[in-house]
Amino acid sequence: MSKISEITIVGSGAIGLLTAREFVNAGCSVTLIEKSLSGQESSWAGGGILLPLYPWRQPKAISALVIESNAHYPRLSSDLFDATQINPEWYDCGLLICKNPDSELATAWCDQYGIPYQKADSTFFNDLNTQVENPLWLPNIAQARNPRLLKSLKVFLLNAGVIFKENCEVIDAIIDNGRVSSLITKLGTISVDQLIICTGAWTGELSKKLIPDSVCAPDIAPVKGQIVLFDAKPDTLLHMILDNDYYLIPRRDGKILAGSSVENTGFDKSITSETREKLAYFATELFPKLKEFPVINHWAGLRPGTKQGIPYIDKHPEIKNLSINAGHYRNGLVMGPASAKLMADLILERKPCVDPEPYKLQ
Ligand SMILES: Cc1cc2nc3c(=O)[nH]c(=O)nc-3n(C[C@H](O)[C@H](O)[C@H](O)COP(=O)(O)OP(=O)(O)OC[C@H]3O[C@@H](n4cnc5c(N)ncnc54)[C@H](O)[C@@H]3O)c2cc1C
Repeated sequence: MSKISEITIVGSGAIGLLTAREFVNAGCSVTLIEKSLSGQESSWAGGGILLPLYPWRQPKAISALVIESNAHYPRLSSDLFDATQINPEWYDCGLLICKNPDSELATAWCDQYGIPYQKADSTFFNDLNTQVENPLWLPNIAQARNPRLLKSLKVFLLNAGVIFKENCEVIDAIIDNGRVSSLITKLGTISVDQLIICTGAWTGELSKKLIPDSVCAPDIAPVKGQIVLFDAKPDTLLHMILDNDYYLIPRRDGKILAGSSVENTGFDKSITSETREKLAYFATELFPKLKEFPVINHWAGLRPGTKQGIPYIDKHPEIKNLSINAGHYRNGLVMGPASAKLMADLILERKPCVDPEPYKLQ
């Protein structure tokens, strides 16, 4: 049985918040340190599709976390709603995939993981304008509404006694005898017992600052994504649609997201009129009914990019009380609950919920 009871988490996006929840549920005291306000970065900006785009083209390590998370999402969402009265809007509206050149791989993946699917017949395409190729309908795929999931998690954690230190950027660490003894932040020095870094796209840079000589620094870099929002009426679109690299996501109140770009522009989070036009064009070409509705919002976020999209979830091999849970690239919402559970399993010395090997810091 582990004797760990005090946890400090740096970074308060979906990964930090979900990780905090795991430790609260295990009876630990948790402090979250956040450079701005909780849940305002990539986790806020994402689409919330609870499936990677074409998961059969991605490493198995991603599927393992996706399947484990999705087994728990409905309960996670309803528990948070009951506890906070804020609805994360987990919603199994289904996903239509218009083009599947590798449909054999797709159906084999669905069979392997028990994901229901069917060939999408022409009735799915009455209101759509696209060339289809082996279209696939995945009726059980769900979404979550990012800002509400994040708000609900924060309220849950505050009610559970978690300390939030916001506007408190971590800039350095004091390391004694192979342990981080304290963090140096813009609001002063904070001593730590067990430390977990969940700083998303900033993790590569921060790790270099905290442990400059480490031979196993996480290789994480920002990848910008932009999304536009249509002010559509409820029931304009009933399910999510993926067409090539772009998607539409209808929220429960009718609003429809169209996303997303993939841009290597460093930590620049600005939105561009060129991408706004590109996304709006994709959306209105695919689903002409959207021409009736204005674009009312447009935003960007920085995904924590890793080479294969596999996150680092590991205890640091060189620094005894330091762990990292970061680098979820395009799938942090869907891999988040299982990543948080695995992180807690490793630190609390419980049986890991998935094989930890692929997520190790080398
Ligand atoms: C356009 C877009 C669409 C997406 N769509 C989906 C999707 O449909 N499904 C899906 O599963 N995923 C999606 N994602 C990916 C997902 O949003 C990310 O993988 C996930 O949000 C990463 O969560 P995080 O908590 O690691 O990062 P973040 O949410 O970025 O949180 C990191 C936090 O760390 C803080 N921080 C950084 N440095 C410091 C420091 N030095 N001191 C203190 N705090 C610090 C930051 O301020 C931030 O709050 C999308 C992302 C984008 C941008």
